[in-house]
Amino acid sequence: MNDESINRHIQAVAIQFISYRGDIRAMASFIAASMGDAAPDIELLTNYLRKPEIHEELIKWDVGIWRNTTGDWSLVSLAAPSSIEQMRYRLEHFPTSNTQCRWCLQDAKRLAHIELIPEKDIRGEPVDNSWLHKFCMRPWLTMRNQVARAQTAPSKESLI
Ligand SMILES: [Zn+2]
Repeated sequence: MNDESINRHIQAVAIQFISYRGDIRAMASFIAASMGDAAPDIELLTNYLRKPEIHEELIKWDVGIWRNTTGDWSLVSLAAPSSIEQMRYRLEHFPTSNTQCRWCLQDAKRLAHIELIPEKDIRGEPVDNSWLHKFCMRPWLTMRNQVARAQTAPSKESLI
């Protein structure tokens, strides 16, 4: 069961929180609050959020949702920043700890080697201190490609 009206509110909550980590029932209650009177039962909503096929579907909505090794859940907005400048800023700044995901900044701590995967450069070499969740890697690489393309695009002057 894939429900667009629920997905729209999951997306809204993900955008509002940007990066949330906690209990799945708390997550369901935020989504129910967003839905108001149209909200289904919390139990039903929690079950909906647990389904792997819904996690796949939500990628199309720029939403990452997954269960961490420790048993809690993450809800992350996978939407890219709106400008190249903001994207470049994100690419140039590193989190305070190298056990944090560079996209969502959630800290995997001692489980970083299990939960995060290294970013690879165009030659396939790992990028120093750049680790990301599987779900966060795709928007990160898309952002990296967009910035690289903007840098190599000919400027107006060179076209004259
Ligand atoms: Zn992440």
